[in-house]
Amino acid sequence: MKSILATGVLVLAASLAAGRPAPIPPPWAAALHAPGAAERDSWNTAARINVDATWDGTAVVGHMDLVWRNDTGTTLTDLVLATYANQSSYHGAAMEVIAASVEGRQVTPQVIAEGLGVRLSLARPLAPGASVQCTATFRHTLSRDEGYHGLACQKPDGPAVLHGWYPDLALWADGRWQVDPLPSLCDPARSVLAHVTARLRVPDGGPFPVGGTVTAVEDEPGPFRRLTIVSPFTRNLTVVVGGPWVRDEEEVAGIKVRVWATPATADATSLLREATAAAVARCAAAFGPYPFRELDVVVAPLGEGAGGVESTGLYLIDAGACSVATEVERGYVEMIAAHETAHAWWYQIVGNDPLRATWLDESLTNWTTLWLLEQRSDALRRMQEQEIVMMAVNGHTQGPFPALHPDTWKPTEEDYVGQVYGRGAVAYAALRREVGDERWLACLRSWATAQRWHVATPADWQTHLRTTLGGEVADRFWDRWILGQGLTPRHLMEPFRTTPTR
Ligand SMILES: [Zn+2]
Repeated sequence: MKSILATGVLVLAASLAAGRPAPIPPPWAAALHAPGAAERDSWNTAARINVDATWDGTAVVGHMDLVWRNDTGTTLTDLVLATYANQSSYHGAAMEVIAASVEGRQVTPQVIAEGLGVRLSLARPLAPGASVQCTATFRHTLSRDEGYHGLACQKPDGPAVLHGWYPDLALWADGRWQVDPLPSLCDPARSVLAHVTARLRVPDGGPFPVGGTVTAVEDEPGPFRRLTIVSPFTRNLTVVVGGPWVRDEEEVAGIKVRVWATPATADATSLLREATAAAVARCAAAFGPYPFRELDVVVAPLGEGAGGVESTGLYLIDAGACSVATEVERGYVEMIAAHETAHAWWYQIVGNDPLRATWLDESLTNWTTLWLLEQRSDALRRMQEQEIVMMAVNGHTQGPFPALHPDTWKPTEEDYVGQVYGRGAVAYAALRREVGDERWLACLRSWATAQRWHVATPADWQTHLRTTLGGEVADRFWDRWILGQGLTPRHLMEPFRTTPTR
């Protein structure tokens, strides 16, 4: 395995130096499903991360090696690694960078942003387009309590949910490294896109649900084994260690949809598999190909507030949401499966900053949820329509409505959920009704194609809407639905009326 890793670094270094698209090298190619021009063209823009670590039942201790080309357009004097596990909302989890180096030179890791980041000074300024290599030796302790909505957490008798389990290069935007505190429901996936190879030593057991593809499992001395995981185009690599699992899988258009349920949630496996497979097939046909060979669905205790959490090549669904005894409960499972699968397009393929523009992926994902459910049944469509309208109106029966953007909006948790997930989804239902299915779906497909593997901004989306739907339609939409200008509760009912009202 070492030789493969070394080869990967050499291939990357050579192609970075030459500045030309490289063929996608093994071992990552094994994890990709029919990579196309976008994958080859974007291959060199992602960072390259090797992780070698041990999960000892309490903490992940290991070493991270990162090669990255400066794509910020700015000459940099430092790098910042994101260490969000130190935020108090992780309920006792921690991420400590013990030692670090840049270009082979030891540097002192400087804790910044109240522990949410670690700064590594560069010996020489890093020009735009130049590459840099850094390493970090780290210790990541898991929460024994709630974690962050079940992430970075091992509850008693529950699996260990490794998420953000190695220090990752933070996002750069607006002239600085972004390590601001997370609001209560924000996805903590704020790092650069990376091709990751992880060698993780874990206690005997398994198999193990992972976001990438497990390419090797080796026996280790003592009651341990070592997984080799490859995960190309990664925004966040999740590994779940636990079990026993009740598994169910299906191949849809060359992609393995694999469900990992607990014995207590075994009744939900077939519905989760079937709903997820249907969503993958429909989104791929509409928005462009799903990039990976696998999509893993893992049942874990996430706790109140999060029905599911998306991650690269994997989503988590809360064990408490997996009852399927009644039609309503089955509908809720379908809704989560559709929502988290849709994130493979809006979050994973088209990235965004989940803190400063949460609505960019979440609102579109929740509209896509509605679109997927309406293809399942009328009852599910009605359920989702009522859900998003109720969320949107909650607390605003008389108006006015806040702007979803810019991020100067500091909402209550209730308003955040209602406006981003509810009103934002209704907004796209209104736009679809205005321009028609053909133009709306073409707009989404070209968005997914143009932004594939990028980190998109609200300005990019606004420009795309103007280009594809026309300035008049796009500007009217933006003012009313994104900025909330003149938006009334009546507008929120309108997209779902059988006949338009005046
Ligand atoms: Zn979501």
